[in-house]
Amino acid sequence: MKFEIVTIFPLMVKAALTEGLLLRAIEKGIISVKVHDLRDWSVDRHRKVDDLPFGGGGGMVFRPEPLFAAVEQIKAASGATPAAVVLMCPQGRRLDQKEIRRLSAEYERLILLCGRYEGIDERVRQHLVDLEISIGDYVLSGGELPALIVVEAVTRLLPGAIGRAECAVQDSFSEGLLDYPHYTRPAEFRGWRVPEVLLSGDHEAIARWRREKSLERTAQRRPDLLAGGNPSVPAGTGSKR
Ligand code: SAM
Repeated sequence: MKFEIVTIFPLMVKAALTEGLLLRAIEKGIISVKVHDLRDWSVDRHRKVDDLPFGGGGGMVFRPEPLFAAVEQIKAASGATPAAVVLMCPQGRRLDQKEIRRLSAEYERLILLCGRYEGIDERVRQHLVDLEISIGDYVLSGGELPALIVVEAVTRLLPGAIGRAECAVQDSFSEGLLDYPHYTRPAEFRGWRVPEVLLSGDHEAIARWRREKSLERTAQRRPDLLAGGNPSVPAGTGSKR
């Protein structure tokens, strides 16, 4: 999977690629991430990429020329590889695990555009962008952190990216349920004991307990997930499978 991130703050994005899962995935060749400085496509001798909004009002807006030029050049360099141009945007489709699964399955290349200030010229949205993604109903100052969230969430689903494949399968939302509680050593801490079933060695009983806890947690914390028509989850709360 190839990610191309277009930003005016390339160092901010690159910093996140120097440790942890993303660094390992890059080193293993599972993903590649190219970070592009939007100012390289500026049409201004001072490398400006923004301008005042027509109609007045506060804030600056990204001009269309640098974004169009950046995307066109990145696409030309990537040949026929299917790519989606994604605008990070609080008005976009709210990101969830289902959408992350779709992105990881359907695309080999994502071109992620990071806005700043008041946002981008509307013609970019209308004529350049394939999809708009929001990471939630709140507003950040830029699209860099949202873009990195997309990169990390997609990468976790790619084969070989995380240590044990089953970890991604049991994660919250992967089966439409929240994850069950996890415990490790010591078996007793300050008088709080780990549930006996987890120490029993009875794998069937452990699997049953985990499933029950998953359903219980989902019913308590996110009943909307159970009511959401997920075919792998029975309607109603607290049911056992
Ligand atoms: N005026 C814009 C609006 O109200 O829709 C907000 C612009 S915001 C200050 C600047 C940039 O941050 C956006 O262009 C977008 O790239 C990014 N951004 C902010 N919040 C975001 C969110 N929740 N999801 C994705 N991107 C976001």
